[in-house]
Amino acid sequence: MTSGKENWKPATKLVHGGTMRSQFGEMSEALFLTQGFAYDTAEAAEARFNGEDPGFIYSRFSNPTTAMFEDRMALLEGAGAARATASGMAAVTAAFLCQVSAGDHVVAAKALFSSCRYIVEDLLPRFGVTSTLVDGTDLDQWRAAVKPETKALFLESPTNPTLDVLDIAAVAEIAHEAGAVLIVDNVFATPVWQSPLQLGADVVVYSATKHIDGQGRCLGGIVLSSEEWVDEYLHNFLRQTGPSMSPFNAWVLLKGLETLDVRVARQTENAAKIADFLADHPSVARLVYPGRADHPQADIVARQMRAGSNLICLELKGGKEAAYRLCNALEIVKISNNLGDAKSLICHPATTTHQRMDEDQQLELGITAGTLRFSVGLEDADDLIADISRGLG
Ligand SMILES: *Cc1c(COP(=O)(O)O)cnc(C)c1O
Repeated sequence: MTSGKENWKPATKLVHGGTMRSQFGEMSEALFLTQGFAYDTAEAAEARFNGEDPGFIYSRFSNPTTAMFEDRMALLEGAGAARATASGMAAVTAAFLCQVSAGDHVVAAKALFSSCRYIVEDLLPRFGVTSTLVDGTDLDQWRAAVKPETKALFLESPTNPTLDVLDIAAVAEIAHEAGAVLIVDNVFATPVWQSPLQLGADVVVYSATKHIDGQGRCLGGIVLSSEEWVDEYLHNFLRQTGPSMSPFNAWVLLKGLETLDVRVARQTENAAKIADFLADHPSVARLVYPGRADHPQADIVARQMRAGSNLICLELKGGKEAAYRLCNALEIVKISNNLGDAKSLICHPATTTHQRMDEDQQLELGITAGTLRFSVGLEDADDLIADISRGLG
């Protein structure tokens, strides 16, 4: 029998990928809430440990429920292998630390989720791994930054919170010419709309906390790459250091995956309508939405994304006062720094997610006092537009 799972369309992979059934034939994926596994004999234990028998040993590094989540994600992403982690930040940290040593160098786009920027700018240098931050939209800056000791390039696209879109294929080429790997944080695009490995990236990381759960319940992360890279660098690092995903969270996230494409499609449809409404509103100074023809990198969006996703960045004319007034007036849209949730969420990056940066650093990223990041949810678009319209009025 041929399986042909790789040829399934994404919706089918999201429902059936990675499923392993126990002897009971359960329909919904089983939750193996267990730390360890018993062996029938001492010989069986030995075979498990020396790799002759590929079964499970200990949930710090492998668990059946977590493995189903990893396999489903790997199938969706077209990756050779995947490893789940306790959070998105555990995934990003592991993707770096598993492969760098003192003396190495990394290059990253400046516009990063602020904890990612901490890893690159503060944490790695403490262990002798130097880093250079570049304007990710400028390919010459990437080229100028790579050195013989450069081990990894890192970017997010679309960027947080200003939604610039970076050219993944072009940066991958620069990485490969330098003998480095490109790591892409694909959270904002989601696996539904962008496939970095197909564009030439070597490693993809997600905060599964966002759209993959999509219902505000649990934290999670995942790193995906080739089987060789996972075997050589990632697997042992995670096994020995232990930032593991709980099997319970893996189970919640597996159920999240079943509806991921339906949710993201609806959120994106809503976001496109809201972006068009906001673009024409007199209180809005600037609107960035990757699904619109006026996006600053619309040509790259057309090449590498299948749709614009559910995030909108807007700048209000009245600065912080106007931004706060809108946030506080909204009834349906909640104020929260999370994203990708069923509920629409808005946040003021300058005073929340990017508070750590001084004003000059914020302005360099395009974050002004009037900037708001809007994660569009699953509510009815007309209700959301009415809520925003009232809030702006
Ligand atoms: C949320 C987020 C992270 C971190 O994920 P956690 O699950 O919160 O640890 C990393 N990168 C991006 C782009 C994110 O949005």
